[in-house]
Amino acid sequence: MNRDPNCIFCKIVAGEMKSDIVAQDERTVAFSDIAPAAPLHVLVVPRTHYTDAAAVDDPLDLQAMFRMAREVVRAKGHEDTGYRLVLNTGPHAQQSVFHVHLHVLAGRQMSWPPG
Ligand code: 5GP
Ligand code: ZN
Repeated sequence: MNRDPNCIFCKIVAGEMKSDIVAQDERTVAFSDIAPAAPLHVLVVPRTHYTDAAAVDDPLDLQAMFRMAREVVRAKGHEDTGYRLVLNTGPHAQQSVFHVHLHVLAGRQMSWPPG
């Protein structure tokens, strides 16, 4: 499993940094975003460090991230009203943490296009 010693999400995965973990499996960890943008705002990360979505070279990690997102949405009761999955990638998308993370947002009406 690849790890970056300076990465905050690697530290959360390793249990070295506090977070509100809502679910986890062999490949992923899901935890609450520290600055929630919706009633449900969870980040799903692979245990392996990849800088962004484009760097994920194991399709099983992508599959595991999307499966975990669906499970969190179901467990929190938002499946019927819907949800948004976001992968901010690079400067124009304002990615700020460089360990790939799938934003799972739900619980309110959202607008489109995003800002
Ligand atoms: P990005 O802008 O890279 O797509 O998203 C990074 C997200 O990580 C932001 O929504 C931000 O609130 C969240 N975040 C940053 N630092 C921490 C942290 O230490 N703990 C948690 N739980 N979330 C964080
Ligand atoms: Zn990392």
